[in-house]
Amino acid sequence: MGKRFDSLLFPEGKCRAFTLSYDDGVVQDRRLVRLCEQYGVKCTFNLNSAVLGYKAQAKAPGKREIDISKVDRDEARELYRSHEIGGHGLYHSDLTAPGTPYAMYEILEDKRQLEELRGDTLRMFAYPFGVYNEQVKELLKTAGYRGARTVKSTHSFALPEDPLAWDPTCHHNDEKLFELAEQFLHTPAFRPALFYVWGHAYEFDGEDNWQRIEELLQKVSGNDTVWYAANGEILDYLQAYQRLEYSADGTMIRNPSSCDVWIRTSFENTEYLPAGALTKIRDTVL
Ligand SMILES: [Zn+2]
Repeated sequence: MGKRFDSLLFPEGKCRAFTLSYDDGVVQDRRLVRLCEQYGVKCTFNLNSAVLGYKAQAKAPGKREIDISKVDRDEARELYRSHEIGGHGLYHSDLTAPGTPYAMYEILEDKRQLEELRGDTLRMFAYPFGVYNEQVKELLKTAGYRGARTVKSTHSFALPEDPLAWDPTCHHNDEKLFELAEQFLHTPAFRPALFYVWGHAYEFDGEDNWQRIEELLQKVSGNDTVWYAANGEILDYLQAYQRLEYSADGTMIRNPSSCDVWIRTSFENTEYLPAGALTKIRDTVL
C-alpha cells in the first residue's frame, strides 16, 4: 500500500455535516419544524417530560413578553416525528445542585417518559442551563445516554472528542453565525467538518429574528457536500467509524457495525465500507 492518511467522510462520501439542537419543547418549535422541513435539515429537540403541556409567559427586563408554553405529549409525538427527541431533565433542574438520587431521577424518569412517548430509545441529552460536572456525565452514561450537548461555543467544525460534553459550534444569535456558515461551506474537502447550531425557538419570538434562522437554513441547505442529520444520527455514524477494524497492512477494513461508513484513504481515493462486511482497500498512489 502507498502512503495513507485515512480520514472520516460522512454518508455518501460527503465531507460536511450540519445539525441543529433546540431546547425546552416550546410552542415555537412548530414554526421551526416547518422551516426544517422546508429546507430539508434535521434537528434534535430536547424535552422536559414533566412540563409538557405547561402554559406560561415570560418577560425579561426591557424585552417583549413571550409565550414560553410547551407543546403537550400528543402534539410532541407528531410534531417531532421526522426529527430526534433528546432528554433535557424531568423538570429542567440544575443537575449539579441536588443530591445524586434526585439528579438520577431527573435524568432517568425523563428518559423513561420520553422513550414511552417516542416508542424508541434515546441517545442524546442537553444539559439544563448548560451546566454539568463529571458526576452528572457519569449519571447520564449509567442511564444509557451516549451524547450530551453543552452551551459552550467552539466556533469550530471539529468532531466531538467527548460526546458526553459535546460543545456546539455556536448559538443562533452568535455574531459570527453567518461568517461561520460561509467558512463551513468552504472547509477543505479532506477534513470532515460539522456545523452544530443550538438555541430555543422562543428566542426567535423574543428577539423578533425568525429571519435569522431562515437565512441560515437557506444558506447551508441543498448542498451536495453536506449531510443534514440529527445529533444522534451523527453520533451513531462517528461511533461506527471508531469501531472500524484494520488489518496490520491496511489492505483490509472490517466494518462490524450496522451502519455503512465512507472514508478517504488519500486525496484521490474514497472507500465505501458496507455495514457488517470486510472491504479490500484499493492501492493508494504516492
Ligand atoms: Zn432548557
